[in-house]
Amino acid sequence: MTLIKSINPYTGELLAEFNPLTEKEIEEKLSAGSVAFSTWKNTDFTHKADLMNKAAQVLKDRREKYATIISQEMGKVFKESLSEVDKCALVCEYYAENAAEFLKAEKIDLPDGAKAKVIHQPLGIVLAVMPWNFPFWQVFRFAAPTLMAGNVGVLKHASNVPQCSLAIEEVFTEAEFPPGTFQSLLIDSEATNKLIEDERIKAVTLTGSEKAGAAVASTAGKYIKKSLLELGGSDPFIVLKDANIKSAAETAVKARMINFGQSCIAAKRFIVEEDIYEDFMTLFVEHFRKLKQGDPMGENSDFACMARPDLAKELYTQINESVKAGATLLLGGEEPDEDSAIFQPTILTDIPTNAPAYYEELFGPVATIFKVKNEDDAIALANDSEFGLGGSIWSENKERAEELASKIETGAVFINAMVASNPHLPFGGVKKSGYGRELSRFGILEFVNSKTVYLG
Ligand code: NDP
Repeated sequence: MTLIKSINPYTGELLAEFNPLTEKEIEEKLSAGSVAFSTWKNTDFTHKADLMNKAAQVLKDRREKYATIISQEMGKVFKESLSEVDKCALVCEYYAENAAEFLKAEKIDLPDGAKAKVIHQPLGIVLAVMPWNFPFWQVFRFAAPTLMAGNVGVLKHASNVPQCSLAIEEVFTEAEFPPGTFQSLLIDSEATNKLIEDERIKAVTLTGSEKAGAAVASTAGKYIKKSLLELGGSDPFIVLKDANIKSAAETAVKARMINFGQSCIAAKRFIVEEDIYEDFMTLFVEHFRKLKQGDPMGENSDFACMARPDLAKELYTQINESVKAGATLLLGGEEPDEDSAIFQPTILTDIPTNAPAYYEELFGPVATIFKVKNEDDAIALANDSEFGLGGSIWSENKERAEELASKIETGAVFINAMVASNPHLPFGGVKKSGYGRELSRFGILEFVNSKTVYLG
């Protein structure tokens, strides 16, 4: 049996280890989930909202405790971990306030005078397969709408964040959700796929890599279960010649470096019109160089390390192969020490189309810069990607920027701002970035049976 280990990636220290659940324990959790669903599905919105608001309060009361677990377990700097916990409280409050309205019955008057309505009913146990990069946020943005819709949830979290997984379960327990409403399952990928086969699991959502998404969605497909995939991204950040360059450059660095670059919606490809390229680059590099590395718990640290040594190694390989293919290394790019998650921010320019940095996702602090002649070339380059999650356009001509936004093949475009998730806005991708939407009203409608009732 392989133990599930919690390791501080900055120090390499083993923090805790856990036995994965046995088959019997998994069975007990599924039974508890089924029992919970039989009453939770009929629980009124007011009571569900009370509990969800309590969960928000638990998060607020214990924000430092949970932020410490996040930083120690996956290396995020403490100030970012605090913001992550705060954002989880917000999404709980958002769905506590809005779920009833989002899910109220919709009346339809038919042309022949007949009437019908659509009611939205919960499905049952929904499985969430979640990643380590925002180990609280990714789970809460699933759990808040899913539980408010009357479903119950089971979580298979990434193997490197077991303490986060248990802490999230604790939030719902402390908020007095009925036992079995939200359960954390410490299991590996193999057990996860077996779980999807189980009749009691009605749907699955996954945030993570294409490979994991394809595996989970094919099992779900085989057993005719709904899946939602939120996968990688290689978001373009387009700076047009009429942009506010100062503001664009400052935000560009933030958009690339948030969570030390380990974010699906981080800006990854910076596409800059040639007229302003030099000016933009001067500021961009200046901001990039100012970032300070340090202990994740350090007050002055802007970044610490990658979440695992293997992720640092893989990122270095992508850089190295891109340089071999002809890309120019403008900053960073040093090989990480063996078994170390410490990595240096890197900038690549002159990237040929056959370089991994051109066509793969770089899930870490590596900016790729492209110089283009005009906005048509910028849009063509932005769309020359297998991914389609988000994108950002910078221009003082907002009308023009909006027109260009409609030409970008992604699930979201932000004008004069970095892409960010927000409970009020639908979130998700097209192409290999996945399918389905999280957050907003769209998110809560993913895991319900929208049932037509014809009133004859
Ligand atoms: P994975 O995609 O492998 O992990 C995400 C989740 O899926 C984890 O819970 C993982 O469990 C689970 N998982 C992985 N493989 C399977 C499978 N075959 N069946 C069922 N569940 C599975 O991410 P990694 O941690 O390996 O990171 C690799 C890359 O994934 C990153 O470099 C990045 O490109 C992408 N990624 C994207 C994220 C996003 O926000 N879209 C978030 C994290 C990663 P376990 O940990 O036990 O393997």
